[in-house]
Amino acid sequence: MAIEVVRIPVLSDNYVWLVHDAASGETMVVDPAVAEPVLAAATARGWTISAIWNTHWHPDHTGGNAAIKAATGATIYGPAAEAAKIPTLDMQLAEGDTVKLGAHIATVLETPAHTAGHITYHFADDAIAFTGDTLFAMGCGRLFEGTAEQMFANMQRLAQLPDETTVYCAHEYTESNGRYALVAEPDNAAIVSRMADVVAARARGEATVPTSIGLERATNPFMRASSATELAERRAKKDAFRS
Ligand code: ZN
Ligand code: FE
Repeated sequence: MAIEVVRIPVLSDNYVWLVHDAASGETMVVDPAVAEPVLAAATARGWTISAIWNTHWHPDHTGGNAAIKAATGATIYGPAAEAAKIPTLDMQLAEGDTVKLGAHIATVLETPAHTAGHITYHFADDAIAFTGDTLFAMGCGRLFEGTAEQMFANMQRLAQLPDETTVYCAHEYTESNGRYALVAEPDNAAIVSRMADVVAARARGEATVPTSIGLERATNPFMRASSATELAERRAKKDAFRS
């Protein structure tokens, strides 16, 4: 049976993902920035959160950890490399480790650069990836604790996942990312076409996430960068970009 993923928009542009496996009845939450709306969303569906999966230590991804654990007894999983920065962590994960939701297995991919220990959760059999602040729709995370070389390696690696892989990232940055993507690759018709859809969706107040690996391969200027140098140039331009 398929995993069910519920999008919970919180703060100004964060997405928390509530993930349920009906076969086992298990529910986990990815990157709870806050607790209240997440607990409410679970309660409304009759679900009990038994685990929290963090991609990295930033407060807009871990801020709800303590309160959700207090309310549910959930076990908190996250990157071993950031254990010192996530005091609520129960289980430390590193490259190649697996985490389960019922019978569904996610593999941990180390995807550092935004933060030094950032991880991605990949459910290969379900064709789902939770990429946190590493891969966004038409964007990538800022290089706060790592290098363009690391982010380039992340992009190359994620690009090798099957095109149909659904990508759940942690922010609604798509329209801003797309405005820069149009400048980075002005001749890319796929970006022009996607941006028309994105602008219309945002005007209607709709989310533009999740995305897919195939769509990112076609339209993401960071995944499409031909080298770490080009990714670094694009990242610097995006950081300074004002549309
Ligand atoms: Zn972050
Ligand atoms: Fe974030």
